[in-house]
Amino acid sequence: MLPENAVLHIVIFIFGLCFGSFFNVVTDRLPRHESIVTVKSHCESCGYDLKWYDNIPLLSYIFLKGRCRKCQAKLSIKYPLMEIATGALFVLVFLFHGISIESGIWCLASGVLLTISVIDWRTYEIPIGLNYFLLALGLIHLGLDYKNWFLYVIGAVSVSLLLYIIYLLSKGRAIGGGDIKLMAVMGLLLGWKLCVFGFVVGCVAGSVIHILRMKISKAERMLAMGPYLSAGLFLSMLVGERFMDWYLGMLRL
Ligand SMILES: [Zn+2]
Repeated sequence: MLPENAVLHIVIFIFGLCFGSFFNVVTDRLPRHESIVTVKSHCESCGYDLKWYDNIPLLSYIFLKGRCRKCQAKLSIKYPLMEIATGALFVLVFLFHGISIESGIWCLASGVLLTISVIDWRTYEIPIGLNYFLLALGLIHLGLDYKNWFLYVIGAVSVSLLLYIIYLLSKGRAIGGGDIKLMAVMGLLLGWKLCVFGFVVGCVAGSVIHILRMKISKAERMLAMGPYLSAGLFLSMLVGERFMDWYLGMLRL
């Protein structure tokens, strides 16, 4: 018999797979301004309308050996990877935060951060709709923890205001408008401490990895910050609070 927690985590992982499947659709369609709900899923090569059994997260990809049922065109490995990644993010959130409404909000936010990362990586843009979704999550969370409202309101402007000043000074060359909005809505969702922590982690990771990429794989100078900021914010969501408690404890010694 599996322990009770393992069953729960498998269920949460399967939920994550399903959400990941939806986030796949969003990453494909949002940059092309296609409808996310009304257009049927179809094969990019032959136009074959996918049936429900072609759309089962992860399983369809495995059974069809990563190919279209009709024309056998190869499907991108991105589809199962994104589903597995979303499942993993969901399980991590519940491992660190336990079962609560807040965990549900963190799960949705982490899935959207993953979606933002993929889209920003490909297009250097963060669709405004995804930032609006994070804003809605932030407002719901604010309603749940309204006693600490000032932490979140300061969070909304803490990093974003600094970025906006850099944006104005550099005439939009140093930072993208989408990044500023992302930090504003995530600041509202996480509060200023976690927002600043996530921002610092994201910037350090972004600089180090991008310099390495420019050296090793001759990547362009242009840097999509979205994936790094998202990774930093996700890490902050998971362990930011614990890390800061530990760090402040060290300072007091
Ligand atoms: Zn096809």
